[in-house]
Amino acid sequence: MTTISTSAASLRGQSIVAGTSVAGASDGPTFSAVDPATGEDLQPTYGVATTEQIDEALAAAVDAFAVLRASSPADRAGLLRGIADRLDAAKDGLVARAHAETGLPVPRLTGEVGRTSGQLRLFASELELGEHQGVRIDHARPDRQPAPAPDLRLRFVPVGPVVVFGASNFPFAFSTAGGDTASALAAGCPVIVKAHNAHPGTAELVGLAVAEAVAAAGFPPGTFSLLYGIGNDLGQRLVSEPAVRAVGFTGSRAGGLALVRAAQARPVPIPVYAEMSSTNPVIVLPGRAARPDLVADGYVGSLTLGSGQFCTNPGLLFVPADSEALVTAIGDRVAAASGQTMLTPGIRSAYESGVERLAGRDVVGRGAKGEGPNAPAPVVVSCTAAELRDDSSLAEEVFGAAGLVVSYADLSDLALTLAGLEGQLTATVQAEPEDHDAVRTLLPILEDLAGRVIMNGWPTGVEVGQAMVHGGPFPATSDGRTTSVGTLAIQRFQRPVAYQDVPDDLLPEPVREANPYGLPRRVDGNLEI
Ligand code: NAP
Repeated sequence: MTTISTSAASLRGQSIVAGTSVAGASDGPTFSAVDPATGEDLQPTYGVATTEQIDEALAAAVDAFAVLRASSPADRAGLLRGIADRLDAAKDGLVARAHAETGLPVPRLTGEVGRTSGQLRLFASELELGEHQGVRIDHARPDRQPAPAPDLRLRFVPVGPVVVFGASNFPFAFSTAGGDTASALAAGCPVIVKAHNAHPGTAELVGLAVAEAVAAAGFPPGTFSLLYGIGNDLGQRLVSEPAVRAVGFTGSRAGGLALVRAAQARPVPIPVYAEMSSTNPVIVLPGRAARPDLVADGYVGSLTLGSGQFCTNPGLLFVPADSEALVTAIGDRVAAASGQTMLTPGIRSAYESGVERLAGRDVVGRGAKGEGPNAPAPVVVSCTAAELRDDSSLAEEVFGAAGLVVSYADLSDLALTLAGLEGQLTATVQAEPEDHDAVRTLLPILEDLAGRVIMNGWPTGVEVGQAMVHGGPFPATSDGRTTSVGTLAIQRFQRPVAYQDVPDDLLPEPVREANPYGLPRRVDGNLEI
């Protein structure tokens, strides 16, 4: 394996179309990454993909799909591991570029590369387990009365080329080779990534690693392309293209909903799996509120982590009305915190507008501005549950370290308010044993509200595993039946097909009688593993 070069000089400022770096039109628009810590432009400049290059990427993805759909799970597992190995080998250079482009701390980014390669390897293992193929066989029953039963074989097939949009706050784990790309490739779908303009260099370096792994694994170059654009035209076009069969998106609600609308307006609509924003309510029950230091440490740590730039940031903290000691402890800790560099000047300015929207509320605590032009102060304000019910705008995401402490009178006041919230990625309960009856009452409400229910933890930090759900009811995501993190994410890019009375030698391998891939399957109603 050759390690991709991650030196600044190896950046070309070019899209990758079916494995080849291509320059944008010489007279076309260009853009650069900005170092948010200093406000300075970073080299190189990026040219945008031309119409012909976009057409080429789409046509190559269609060609590649013919090969991917017939590939064995083991071969695709090899591809995913090849990408993971290349990311790990290039880690230091990747982290250095991502740090310059996002301002995120080096240790955090180093961990994120490990999480991303680990995620790719987890999908590789999942392919080898084979459960994702969902094979079911009902053998023919010619003697069944009053009519014979046919031979039926079901498996999941990949949907076709997938377009992926990553988010600014996870330049690795939710971007070019992040969970959407990993799960689409695992399913057998070629991927076209719309590069995120907040980290174009990181996207290019990762894209080169993926393209090299595709070639090394012997898959067609159209298996992966990475395209640059300015404004929304490129993304809108990709989602509208007939060749594209599904979309994975992580980002803002406005962006996700715009793409959902574009996908629905097509003559043939396609699914958009948009992971969007959330305010992640945390409910402190009375027994737990009596431990103010414990709760305040955990809450302010989670709220201010990474400048609060997490979709799992705890934006809403519900506390009993008589929790003065807890509110004071929170205020003290927020006042002692200072701002950290946010991802882009635009995100910093959106944060400041969001904080202005909360003006007029009682201030629980306000920290200090950090160094540089894009490090605004963290802030926590308060309101009552009744005020939140009257003004739902208070519950909207402020992307950054801004929190709202909501005081509730009693369990019914709390339950009424929770039932009125929008769909969430997470809902957390902070409770002591004496609160467990209240937890039992709340659990069904929290199941309706969120994709992940957390007890005595904090929502930031999403474990990548078999049992994770990172999704939730609309508008946290556009489709709450699935997840973007964890191996269940493969299902988004597959659909079931049944084969009726097809002779064995004409059947695809996964549903042949001899089970050549050794897949777990349900045969005549019985599980065979
Ligand atoms: P963003 O501004 O929505 O951008 C995400 C991607 O979508 C970018 O590639 C962007 O293109 C593209 N895009 C945005 N609007 C579009 C439109 N109308 N048409 C076509 N393409 C469009 O989000 P972000 O600033 O990167 O990320 C921050 C947000 O993501 C926060 O709200 C955060 O809560 C959310 N987030 C959610 C999750 C989750 O798992 N649910 C995870 C992380 C972050 P450009 O590159 O050209 O701008």
